Amino acid sequence: EGGQWLQMCRSKTSAPKNFCDYERMRRTYNIRVPQRFNFAKDVLEQWETKDKNGQRSSLPALWWLGFHSRRLANVLHQECSLESGDRVFLILPRVPEWWLVNVACLRTGTVLIPGTSQLTARDICHRLQMSGAKCVITDETLAPLLDTVASDCPSISTKLLLSHRAMHGWDQMLRLCCRKVSDDHVCMDTRSEEAMTIFFTSGTTGSPKMTQHSHCSYGLGLTVNGRYWLDLTEQDVFWNTSDTGWAKSAWSSVFAPWIQGACMFVHHMPRFDTSTVLKTLSSYPITTFCTAPTAYRMLVQDDISRFTFRALEHCLCAGEPINPEVMWKWKELTGLDIYEGYGQTETVLIAGTFKGMKIKPGSFGKASPGYDVQVVDEDGSVVPQGQEGDLGIRGEPERTAECFRGDFYLTGDRGMMDDEGYLWFIGRADDVILSAGYRIGPFEVENALIEHPAIAESAVVSSPDPVRGEVVKAFVVLTADYKSRDHKELIQELQTHVKTVTAPYKYPRKIEFVDHLPKTVSGKIRRVELKKKEWGQQTSK
Ligand code: ATP
Ligand code: MG
Repeated sequence: EGGQWLQMCRSKTSAPKNFCDYERMRRTYNIRVPQRFNFAKDVLEQWETKDKNGQRSSLPALWWLGFHSRRLANVLHQECSLESGDRVFLILPRVPEWWLVNVACLRTGTVLIPGTSQLTARDICHRLQMSGAKCVITDETLAPLLDTVASDCPSISTKLLLSHRAMHGWDQMLRLCCRKVSDDHVCMDTRSEEAMTIFFTSGTTGSPKMTQHSHCSYGLGLTVNGRYWLDLTEQDVFWNTSDTGWAKSAWSSVFAPWIQGACMFVHHMPRFDTSTVLKTLSSYPITTFCTAPTAYRMLVQDDISRFTFRALEHCLCAGEPINPEVMWKWKELTGLDIYEGYGQTETVLIAGTFKGMKIKPGSFGKASPGYDVQVVDEDGSVVPQGQEGDLGIRGEPERTAECFRGDFYLTGDRGMMDDEGYLWFIGRADDVILSAGYRIGPFEVENALIEHPAIAESAVVSSPDPVRGEVVKAFVVLTADYKSRDHKELIQELQTHVKTVTAPYKYPRKIEFVDHLPKTVSGKIRRVELKKKEWGQQTSK
């Protein structure tokens, strides 16, 4: 039954690249959810068969993945006694074995829970207890940390280590996958709605929230990302820089590119480093590149003119809003546009700018095909275009779901729709500042600030004020040229600048210079931390 969507892949690959008519895309989008679906069987094995039959150019990595994932699947079933539905907790950096475990879990119907290497012992313990994971897989860097919490996590029955050295209490994963183990494995014929993976949200506003996805919600749903937004084909080489612990890695490092049969480029880059990125884009035939807005903010500070990119033609970002100024600079330096995507761990791509669409910097684009995205008021009614409200997706509410208002799933973000259906991000609902009767979205003020050459990046939050209740405060990281400037003078200059480029009431009455902004592992600004600092013991709105 999984055949239906494969047709779509084929039509995409034969369609002219870079072609996207938004209205047609929405009209023709039609994914029928089959009763049974398993990405390993219905997608990867299909590509492998085509490959073996000579119907496409040979991809040795796919053969490697198919062969070894079948062995690892046998190990998980037999040696580790894992059954379909059991949960597997995986912490590995961007090494090929991370993909191997992903595919082996799909094959066995076990539920994969990836985590980032930067988790603390407390985070790990919390995740293991919440999820009741039976199996943990990591390398020798993280294994000692896992051991410190293992006794508090009685559900664990298997610990697999990716290392050539033995460690007490751990089985070496690759040693178990030795020659004795068969490379024949019949992939589980999972039901579409069976649990497939669990991700925790980024923890930008508070504690990360556990989010479960099924074989169809990610395995099939991410077709929207791969086909329409990333615009990938079998001819593309795609590099997504995100860490293996976040939903973005499932989106862009597994399902979306492989649905399209594209080649995934992987770079084991422990820390984001602009010159490594620029060198890599110049040395390899990467056609499509996706990274976080914070990374683009760093990249445009570098001397990009030293580099010529070999094959780059499509750049994307998601996870946070991207400042128009950064898009303009990137275009000036590279000749390329940045296509923005908006989504959540809980969803797939909700909206985006799609190839062929006019880009309006500051707007993250239009609703994805299959999604009815609207701006709604407190009663759950759609507000007129141009008016601010809560960003919602029309759907069928579950009676108990708190995140629903009327017919709408609420994203927790505030936004606006213009008369052409473009959606504009105002801020997370909790980050909107109420000052002297005005509502001020931090993003707009940050966009105004970054237009000034002194600003590398900034975070705008509310700060207590005896008269106005709250005022706008900006935490600012200066560019290298402005670091030694007189701060008092610069504050005035920045305030005047904001008053001239946006409505004057939005200007930051308080400005503080900082060396870094607090960020999540995935690079998102944690305004909540700055707000807490501002308000101390007082509770902000
Ligand atoms: P937590 O829910 O734990 O506080 P988080 O919301 O950052 O963390 P994710 O699921 O990774 O966790 O991120 C989804 C959120 O990221 C969205 O709700 C939105 O606030 C923000 N976001 C993602 N893409 C964009 C974008 N293009 N423009 C603006 N905001 C975006
Ligand atoms: Mg969230």
